[in-house]
Amino acid sequence: MQEHSLTTAIKLASNENPYDPLPSVLAELAQASRAINRYPDHRATAVREALAGRLGVTPAHVAVGCGSVGLLQQLLLAFADPREEVLYAWRSFEAYPIYTAIVGATEVTTPLRFHGLDMAALTKAVTDRTRVVLVTSPNNPTGTAVRHDDLVTLLEAVPPSTLVVLDEAYHEYVTGLHAPRAMELLSRHANLAVLRTFSKAYGLAGLRIGYLMAHPLVVGAVDQVLVPFAVNGMAQAAALASLRHDDELAERVGDTLAERRRVQAALRQLGFSTPDAQANFVWLPAGESAAALTLKLETLGVVTRPFPDEGVRVTIGTPAENDRFLDAFEAAVEPLELAAHWRLPTGRLAGAVQGWIDRIDAADTRLLAHAGTTHTGLTDPDPGGTEQWDADQVWAHLAEIGSYWLRELEQVVDAASTEPVAFGRVKANAGRIAAIEEGRHRDVVGNLTLALRNLHALRAYLAGLSASDWRRVGVHQTLGEMEVAGQLQEFHVGHVEQHLDQLDGLAQE
Ligand SMILES: *Cc1c(COP(=O)(O)O)cnc(C)c1O
Repeated sequence: MQEHSLTTAIKLASNENPYDPLPSVLAELAQASRAINRYPDHRATAVREALAGRLGVTPAHVAVGCGSVGLLQQLLLAFADPREEVLYAWRSFEAYPIYTAIVGATEVTTPLRFHGLDMAALTKAVTDRTRVVLVTSPNNPTGTAVRHDDLVTLLEAVPPSTLVVLDEAYHEYVTGLHAPRAMELLSRHANLAVLRTFSKAYGLAGLRIGYLMAHPLVVGAVDQVLVPFAVNGMAQAAALASLRHDDELAERVGDTLAERRRVQAALRQLGFSTPDAQANFVWLPAGESAAALTLKLETLGVVTRPFPDEGVRVTIGTPAENDRFLDAFEAAVEPLELAAHWRLPTGRLAGAVQGWIDRIDAADTRLLAHAGTTHTGLTDPDPGGTEQWDADQVWAHLAEIGSYWLRELEQVVDAASTEPVAFGRVKANAGRIAAIEEGRHRDVVGNLTLALRNLHALRAYLAGLSASDWRRVGVHQTLGEMEVAGQLQEFHVGHVEQHLDQLDGLAQE
């Protein structure tokens, strides 16, 4: 404030929770402060038990540490000997190179793709020297979540002697159903460790307490290198109190999520697309303008986190803080010529991306409504065809089209070719018919879940596409050449909408 002669400034630089601590948590902290002449419980037993109850595991599956970075250090100490390899994507969390260096291990990194972790590259980079793989979801600073299925592929590819660490510091903010379902994976993979924290959604960054879920043998190894009394008593008391007041905290997380959505949409309205934000921050892919943008925002009293020549990370704050950020951003657009260096769609294309995302969200809402509706009868024959379906067949189709067509779209984009790339299938395709036959015997919730996961994966993917990705052309055997937008209309978003219309027609009044 002094530097820029300001009377007020806001800090949106460290992904903290913008709200004051809960009064009930403060009250219990006051109580706990009377015991600071005593050493705390070294193992934080009560916190482990409370977490285990919450997560549906035994306390032997849970470790508690001095922040999740404290646990990360313990993990690396326990599992990565000097000169052994620690693998992670980069750009990611800045603690990774620091702790890798502290334990004397060798870092191996893979570049990001679509502003997120490139899980295929990460999987390919695993060798028999890889001791630990760090998977950050959502990634800091880009905010994107990895796909559950891609994490499964990685877990199946690594040897059992390689530890996979899923860093989910922002887990409570994740809304995309395509994201990892860690609890499902923990029971199947003894070499998976999941890190979470009270620092972000729980608003206890200053007290330093995080936790880890893993096989009891991993927890045991981590506990052996726990610094005595690393988790202080105030932190333990606050964590316990926070777990008791989960509902109040969930409400605040809900406010942040609504604001995240608003900020992303507002940025696209201003002509600047951002990658799919799954945490409590947005990534501004400003490229060479990143440092200048941070400085400009700072002179207007908005402190953000720059990554020079890459982008700027902006924490979602209170509604008033976010308004101030959006005003400051708007003031920076022209003087800094932000559009020239922005690494995602700008201008009209950014607005078009938001249009697709709004349609995906609307389809999401319609799918949910149909899951609670009774349907009867058969659909009309499809245009130019003879297929007449009952609702179960429509649901089965809705459940399978997303994953099939997303793979086809990815294939067209990945080819990065100036020539049209062959893609797609026709209605008589045997795989299509078999998938519908199989899926019609699944219950509605099962099909709904698959359909939503596919839509969320598509939404995340689209938000990461660059302007040149949007211009890729595929060639379909009967429909001919089409750009990405044409494919979305025909096979993805427009296609889902068409089958939702069929469900509308079968819905009983
Ligand atoms: C903020 C953050 C953490 C949290 O660290 P704590 O030590 O729990 O405060 C961990 N991982 C990532 C990726 C983060 O961004």
